[in-house]
Amino acid sequence: MTAQDNPLLQPWTAPFGLPPFERVRPEHFEPAFAAAMRENREELRAIGEQADAPDFDNTVAAFDRSGRRLARIASVFYNLTASETSPALQAVQRQVAAPLAAHDSAVYMDARLFARVQALHEARERLALTAEQRRLIERVHLDFVLAGAQLGPAAQARYAQVMEELAALTTRFAQNVLHDESSYALPLEGAADLAGLPDFVRAAARQAAAARGLPEGAHVITLARSLVVPFLTFSQRRDLREQVWRAWTSRGEHAGEHDNRPVARAILKLRNEQARLHGHACYADFALTDTMARTRGAVQQLLDEVWPRALQAVERERAALQQAMAAAGVDQTLEAWDWRYWAEQVRVTRYAVDDAEVKPYFELGRMVQAAFDCAGRLFGLSFTPRPELPVYHPDVKAYEVRGADGRTVGLFLQDNFARASKRSGAWMSSLRWQNRNAPPAGDAGRNAPPAGGIELPVILNNNNFAKGEPTLLSLDDVRTLFHEFGHGLHGLLSDVSYERLSGTQVLRDFVELPSQMFEHWIGEPAVLERHARHWQTGEPIPHALVERLLAARRFNQGYETVRYTASAIVDLAVHSLPDAEPPADLCAFETEKLAAVGLPHGVGLNHRLVHFQHLFSSSGYAAAYYVYLWAEVLDADGYDAFTEAGDPFDPAVARALLRCIYASGNTLEPGAAYAAFRGRAPTVEPMLRKKGLLDAEAVTA
Ligand SMILES: [Zn+2]
Repeated sequence: MTAQDNPLLQPWTAPFGLPPFERVRPEHFEPAFAAAMRENREELRAIGEQADAPDFDNTVAAFDRSGRRLARIASVFYNLTASETSPALQAVQRQVAAPLAAHDSAVYMDARLFARVQALHEARERLALTAEQRRLIERVHLDFVLAGAQLGPAAQARYAQVMEELAALTTRFAQNVLHDESSYALPLEGAADLAGLPDFVRAAARQAAAARGLPEGAHVITLARSLVVPFLTFSQRRDLREQVWRAWTSRGEHAGEHDNRPVARAILKLRNEQARLHGHACYADFALTDTMARTRGAVQQLLDEVWPRALQAVERERAALQQAMAAAGVDQTLEAWDWRYWAEQVRVTRYAVDDAEVKPYFELGRMVQAAFDCAGRLFGLSFTPRPELPVYHPDVKAYEVRGADGRTVGLFLQDNFARASKRSGAWMSSLRWQNRNAPPAGDAGRNAPPAGGIELPVILNNNNFAKGEPTLLSLDDVRTLFHEFGHGLHGLLSDVSYERLSGTQVLRDFVELPSQMFEHWIGEPAVLERHARHWQTGEPIPHALVERLLAARRFNQGYETVRYTASAIVDLAVHSLPDAEPPADLCAFETEKLAAVGLPHGVGLNHRLVHFQHLFSSSGYAAAYYVYLWAEVLDADGYDAFTEAGDPFDPAVARALLRCIYASGNTLEPGAAYAAFRGRAPTVEPMLRKKGLLDAEAVTA
């Protein structure tokens, strides 16, 4: 295949530099990656070998402009492998993981290039630079250091090997989880198996059966979270709940070719070696150097603040659940597969809120409009459908995004439905980051010619909602939609010069601030009453129901907090081990750790190590599952600024939020960015209050 036959290597002429999705085939990626890596090496050789002394533009800004074609191809590839994969794409993924990691190592271990970056880093205080330019030098320098630029030659060679092996192993880990999720299906046969399931769960189970080619009218429960959680919440069949629970929590833990136990163990062993090469005793110490928290002590302090309070809250909730069981004449030990079911019973009796009554008010299309409307009222954005643009799946919707002045600021793609070809969870990603440093015309790596170096962002949101006619969401689903949209806005509203500092490419424990912050607006009664309308009648959600919903929201927060925090504790513990050899039996390690901290019976974890994609599908959240809690301190404290102003859309607070948080990318030190928004450092109390952990009455009332 020549470059002329490969659509990935031809200019991408669609609006917003969108890739030619309709022509891209799995076999195009390997040669395209190879060509783009070659081109990137040439670009970097030119930067490193130039005769001119290093200056900001010829070295650091030039580095920021380099590798664009490779990054674009990689972003198409990883978006497809996450959202619309196939055995052929998975095979390519296994093949390219190591060469791409090796390329990265070669880039960051290029001695001539690093010498130039180093010289600028040393001189940065004396150079005439903008604050953003100085920040870019510091960021790029740190990227080099963290990737091994300062290691000796032998250590560098080993480091590169470790990174290649890690890339291959994390790819396998993710594919194993997807395999276990998409290969399982529990058939529900007859009325007895469907007992207790509301219409929307039955519809989703039929949809899942149809997607597996089963005859019309068949129902199956797969291991997609969007089916498992409602099934555990509503099914009256305790035996089936137990079956589904056991299958769900043992993903990745099966002897044979999809066993994640040896994979996770091998990843941990290599991470420990990676940390040691950097002179750290354990991986957590290494990973935390590039975060707001900085140390294990700081993370542990936050976990310690929350854990005992969450344990108290969960015992209060258990008492309520046991009361409900007693009232129903059920004499059983509350097991992990029972908790959601009985919590739902309490919700229905105590708060008179049941999902089946609520969901007709949360139709997906209206909830998307609600998110758009909030972005409009806060930041002046408007969203116009562009159905003619090329996308990778018929479910994907494209919107052109305009600012208050009518100028286009970016493109937003939303892919909302669960599929067997999509990984579980919800996430934001990009096909192009906003920046004003695009290569000039004629340079390698550019696609549609940018005007004045400006490139507008192309941002994606993925959710995993069960498709229905119509698609009705729970309030939790809507919160997920708003969460990812908050990340999306962080990408779309980015207003920076350099690509490396754009959008969500901030420190890991800052990145959940814009997303979690945005969840607050769907908790505003005025927003709910404006947008949550019955899908058949168009009637707004009754005020009394909103009050009951919001009152019910704190119930079972102890359960959620314990599950989350326990997973964060295990993550930190397993990445804090100083030994070169990880525990022989990771599942036993997990069990022992949880027993030591007193995980209560019948609760379970958000994620067990054997399928913990945050930790093992990449290094993004390794030793960093705590970041949601860390950011929650910021978002709870930050949202209080609107509460104090007396208006959830207060224009002055919204302007500060835009300037300091949503638009600033990584151009500001995150602590300083937050203080500039809030006028002070954050306090932890608003987070504890939000979770119902400050006030015992709030949970049981
Ligand atoms: Zn998030």
